[in-house]
Amino acid sequence: MELATHLSIPDNNLNKLEDLIKKQNINLLNSISEKYGLDPNELIYKFIECDYDVNKCLARTWNKGLGAQCSRKKKEGDLCLHHFKLSMRDKGLPHGRVDKSWIPGN
Ligand SMILES: [Zn+2]
Repeated sequence: MELATHLSIPDNNLNKLEDLIKKQNINLLNSISEKYGLDPNELIYKFIECDYDVNKCLARTWNKGLGAQCSRKKKEGDLCLHHFKLSMRDKGLPHGRVDKSWIPGN
């Protein structure tokens, strides 16, 4: 049974709950990678950041440190115009791409 249906959790609280669970999962994967000498980015990418829309801009947005895909349409290659411009600077995309590994909170 769906947790939300069973407990009648409003959508906005459910989103907060999902964010919390995601953060805890990231922390858990970081601990696992530290203990076993694995690449945390690879684990997180594989188990958390594996779903993105290939038709949208592939830049990652901050989303309170959780990371999310940019919601704009692709304009220049894989990116929207905004992220294309950012990608052309020395620093590049501030939070990388959703199809590449990621350090949480960066
Ligand atoms: Zn974008």
